[in-house]
Amino acid sequence: MFESLSDRLGGVFDKLRGRGALNEADVRAAMREVRIALLEADVALPVAKDFIAKVTQRAIGTEVTKSVTPGQQVVKIVNDELVAMLGGEAEGLELGVAPPAVIMMVGLQGSGKTTTTAKIARRLKTKDGKKVLMASLDVNRPAAQEQLRVLGEQVEVATLPIIEGQQPTEIARRALQAAKLQGFDVLMLDTAGRLHVDEALMAEMQAVAAAANPAEALLVVDALTGQDAVNVATNFSERMALTGVVLTRMDGDARGGAALSMRAVTGKPIKFVGTGEKVDALDAFDPSRVAGRILG
Ligand code: GDP
Repeated sequence: MFESLSDRLGGVFDKLRGRGALNEADVRAAMREVRIALLEADVALPVAKDFIAKVTQRAIGTEVTKSVTPGQQVVKIVNDELVAMLGGEAEGLELGVAPPAVIMMVGLQGSGKTTTTAKIARRLKTKDGKKVLMASLDVNRPAAQEQLRVLGEQVEVATLPIIEGQQPTEIARRALQAAKLQGFDVLMLDTAGRLHVDEALMAEMQAVAAAANPAEALLVVDALTGQDAVNVATNFSERMALTGVVLTRMDGDARGGAALSMRAVTGKPIKFVGTGEKVDALDAFDPSRVAGRILG
């Protein structure tokens, strides 16, 4: 994750750190290199431009304090602005509603939605001691409901019994009823995906959201698709009230562009990242930690 960006920035900052004094030309030269590094990491152009403008303004405008060298000061400013670009404070799930708190999972087919549903359910169970029920509303793909049932067995989380022929909103209502009656803390709804964001998908998501009144509506997107992931998130968030994003396949994403641009472009926080196929390969997303990793 972020290997190439990290290497590139490391090179820029090594040069700066060695200098006793920095003038405006030095800062601007360094920022040109940082800008190239960000674009090579597939950061959206407006996000990269905004970032460079903020860092440049602060770096030129700040008095150098005696305790740090000018180079160190620039690195600190870059770190602060990276954290801000990634979303500032880490944002976890907000489940403080009367139980069952509903988490609705949405996303395109193949994004990793079903796997992520099971990963989050497992995490809620093992880390937070929550009693979780999962239900698949994917009636389009024949094996989808069965896939969630099998994952449920694997992570030892209950799944709603499958009734053939029910429509997504009917399943959502039945799941909600079951969760209430059986005292579940959290109900996770794994919705159907499509190959593209289309009218039918959006209408279905809106109907399910209206039926289930989710506390969290999480969009699952594949980090490997880079700026496409950001575009998909923009599309979804214009059409439904998303509370956050989960980026999957971060384990294979050396560039990190989707993670770096997501918050700035969509305004939605990344809440988790998927880091592998296994059910425990899920990390909470913490902007400070990620910035720290990038700046090594
Ligand atoms: P869905 O169609 O969106 O429900 O996608 P699935 O949950 O079925 O996932 C599609 C494939 O992506 C599966 O083979 C998953 O194991 C894999 N996958 C999901 N998340 C991750 C991840 O974070 N890293 C990796 N390497 N693979 C993942």
